Amino acid sequence: MNATEITFDGIFGQETAKRFLAQAFRQGRLAHCYLFFGPEGVGKLATALAFARALVCQSEQQRPCGTCRNCKLFVARSHPNVQVIFPHPKSAKESDVQAVLEEIFSQPYIWHSPWASPSISIDEVRSLRRELGLSSQGGEIRVILFLDAHLMTAEATNALLKTLEEPPELTYFVLISSSPDQLLPTILSRSQQVRFSFLSVQEITAGLARFTDLPEDRRRQIARFAQGSLRRALALAGENVQQLREQAVELLRAAFRNAPQRAMHVTQLVQQHDRRVLMEILESLLHWLRDAHYLRLGLGDDQPSVGYEDRETLQRFNERFADFDFDSAIAEVDLSIHMLRRYVQPNLVLSVLLNHLRRCEKHANSTEKLRRMAL
Ligand SMILES: [Zn+2]
Repeated sequence: MNATEITFDGIFGQETAKRFLAQAFRQGRLAHCYLFFGPEGVGKLATALAFARALVCQSEQQRPCGTCRNCKLFVARSHPNVQVIFPHPKSAKESDVQAVLEEIFSQPYIWHSPWASPSISIDEVRSLRRELGLSSQGGEIRVILFLDAHLMTAEATNALLKTLEEPPELTYFVLISSSPDQLLPTILSRSQQVRFSFLSVQEITAGLARFTDLPEDRRRQIARFAQGSLRRALALAGENVQQLREQAVELLRAAFRNAPQRAMHVTQLVQQHDRRVLMEILESLLHWLRDAHYLRLGLGDDQPSVGYEDRETLQRFNERFADFDFDSAIAEVDLSIHMLRRYVQPNLVLSVLLNHLRRCEKHANSTEKLRRMAL
């Protein structure tokens, strides 16, 4: 490969990862297998696609050039030497698989799997190995991306390992994962690891400016709620963030009411909202509790991630619940989100959560709690 410059136009943030890849590229010291790891929705896939495109580009100047034959084939998703492997059920319809592939290329920040528990099967890796066994197309570079690589079955992982042990010439692998701890150590040790980090509020605001028509103040508001993930910000762009936050506070209030009232609140929530919205409400509660905690600690004013639209409510909460155990409450809300994601019954999850939140205020008796309810 010619030593040349790589450009990462259109990738938000991730300066360290980009610099690292650009340097390896410029020095012609590329690893056969990369592992891009880090949180969801921060640009691992977008960067991997840009990297793949630069690798197959034929320009001797900046790559990808956008004008050579390979760049054009790449944009048309018909480059024979770039392959994207992603988890899907064996029974998935070919048209669905193609639609997802289209989304992966056209909207890497938004892409998400439509299937409940997809995996990368041994068949997938076997057919890849067969193709790699054949001589590469005209002695050109090949790039294979593995999305959500941690969702590879054990058999598939072992088959891939065999390939990585004797990597075919001119072939580069990029594994992408938000859960690298679920990958086999043997895979990790054969990969050059590249860490991706949470995006800043500014970077997410810039992302929202590109992908949405939202006004500046809304973009900033959503960016603060997005917890460092552009994907999450884009999902929130379609939601009413303020309303979610109010529903979160309502849920917290309900925790300090009596048992029948708590049960009633849970029943109503579950009737009104599907699992996805319930998860959003809990995410919003998580955010609210963090804000309240920051405020109590006297932090936050210089924390751009903290939203203080409802500073009065936060302060009232801190005054009335002076011994509230934030760490425990936050851990419990986190666990509840996890359980909803795992398809545990929402009714059960929310009932258990309210009971726990109630116990997070250690020193108040129940009459006192009722008095303080006027949060
Ligand atoms: Zn090119």
